[in-house]
Amino acid sequence: MNGSPTDEFPLGRGLRQGDPLSPFLFLVAAEGFNVLMEALTRNNLFAGYKVGNNALSTVSHLQFADDTLILGGKSWANIRAMRAVLLLFQSLSGLKVNFTKSYLVGVNVASSWLSEAAMVLNCKVGSIPFVYLGMPIGGNPRRLSFWEPLLNRIKSRLSGWSSIHLSFGGRLTLLKAVLSSLPVYVLSFFKAPTGIVSSIESLFNCFFLGESVDHRKISWVDWTSVCRGKEVGGLGVRRIREFNLALLGKWCWRLLEDRDSLWYRVLSARYGMDEGRLRGGGRQASDWWRVVHSLSRESWFSDHVSRGVGNGRTTLFWSDVWCGRVSFRVMFNRLFELSVFKGVSVSEMWQLGWGEGGEAWRWRRRRRRRLFLWEEELVGEIILLLANVTLQVSREDKWLWTLENSHSFTVRSLYNLLTIQPQVVSSVDFSSIWHKDVPLKVVIFAWRLFRDRLPTKDNLLRRGVIPHDSRTCVAGCDSVESSSHLFLQCTTFGSVWHSIYNWIGVLVTNPLYVPNHFHQFGFSGGPGKKRRSILQVIWFATVWEIWKERNNRVFTGKESPVFKVVDRIKSISYMWMKAKHITLPFNLHGWWLNPFTMLGIG
Ligand SMILES: [Zn+2]
Repeated sequence: MNGSPTDEFPLGRGLRQGDPLSPFLFLVAAEGFNVLMEALTRNNLFAGYKVGNNALSTVSHLQFADDTLILGGKSWANIRAMRAVLLLFQSLSGLKVNFTKSYLVGVNVASSWLSEAAMVLNCKVGSIPFVYLGMPIGGNPRRLSFWEPLLNRIKSRLSGWSSIHLSFGGRLTLLKAVLSSLPVYVLSFFKAPTGIVSSIESLFNCFFLGESVDHRKISWVDWTSVCRGKEVGGLGVRRIREFNLALLGKWCWRLLEDRDSLWYRVLSARYGMDEGRLRGGGRQASDWWRVVHSLSRESWFSDHVSRGVGNGRTTLFWSDVWCGRVSFRVMFNRLFELSVFKGVSVSEMWQLGWGEGGEAWRWRRRRRRRLFLWEEELVGEIILLLANVTLQVSREDKWLWTLENSHSFTVRSLYNLLTIQPQVVSSVDFSSIWHKDVPLKVVIFAWRLFRDRLPTKDNLLRRGVIPHDSRTCVAGCDSVESSSHLFLQCTTFGSVWHSIYNWIGVLVTNPLYVPNHFHQFGFSGGPGKKRRSILQVIWFATVWEIWKERNNRVFTGKESPVFKVVDRIKSISYMWMKAKHITLPFNLHGWWLNPFTMLGIG
């Protein structure tokens, strides 16, 4: 020091908490843990959890920042190894492992064994579902209780602000902030049941209307227009159900793109592959996988995925969409059935030769020797299509998301698709529209309505029946007359529902699509088959009378005020019920006051 040697002095400066470097330092140390665990597993000192029968898909630990999950089979050797590795890590890295904050969770392990093992590890016994990275692990997302913490968090966040004292804009801002922060994480992983979506939306709705959450006053707001994009006159609040699906769509995309990742390997070990795709797994599959697997087959996802073929090595000739808008398997199903080469890639087919008489066209001929003429014609067609295809040896195949110019998946593009096309989302059980108390002609009318096959003006326009300038709603509201406009969103016709809700004392947030409304309306009276049945009768009467009123206005120019339409709904639903239940003590007066009270189920 200063030119002359001194005693050694200790360095006094280290990284402090909050230093931008410290997370990186942490990662360096955490990597040490990773190395330790891998060495233990490799030397058979720790037996990780084996997925399926594949030794390559053994998972021993997961790490994210300072959240670490160790997975292994039930054995004392594993417990000892775990203790050793944690202590070793502690002394090597200087990072203290907080044993008292750690949990030992058993799946199908006796609790006595678990508590003994926890004692050895000096940690607590946890239980399923537990929280990892803020996500409940092992819970059942189809149960309402799974979602309760989320609902409570939203409630407490919104109730902290007395919405009466906030301006319209302030409420909107807060709503968006809560909406975009709280549920996104959970919704990007789990599919929320319809009831939960409704609950969240009605929490938002109530808050937005300036009412306290507990005080359930019936009021009607056009929630759909709040949720509509700003560019089309809405307020741009996200619709939960569609947003949820769009977030889950990200997983469907990763299923295609992210095949080297651990989670994909785990899934393929657990469920197996079928012609290049992960198998569904049926009833034995985890809830999460069942949902993601079925969503990946929905047309709103699969129709917008195609394969950009370079060298053709990783594209499936029959099953992937790579030449034209559908797969060859769909386009030439007969040939696919007959083909000897079902699971082969594009490049393999090319090498076999897909020209006329090429080796690629080899068929399974057990019973007969030649193709039928119509099958030969199909071969001619496919050869014609392939004539324009040239493979590029130096370019890898890749997945294309056709809704974005960049061809990579975005949640936004899928969300937009889901909210623009009414017919793409439908989770409704259509069988429940065949209601025995309702005249058949009305049921058939509803059946057409569900499929958006009524001659509404937008449908007529699409078929070229009417000109562009006569497509607007007859109520004079300047909107295009689509079925979801006419029956739900229209300020005139849609407001009929407001009176209906008041009449029977239920609270429904008008969803965007008619089938969803039918579903939600049916369940709005709480549990009980009888209630649901009555609500459905009223629903049928309402859409029926809306349609009749609409036709009167369009074809005869005669107009009844909304309250008259509502009166007709009350009468006609009474008549339908009376006709089928002669023995019930019905009277029109009681029905008009409240059908539930009259029937003694109010
Ligand atoms: Zn209208």
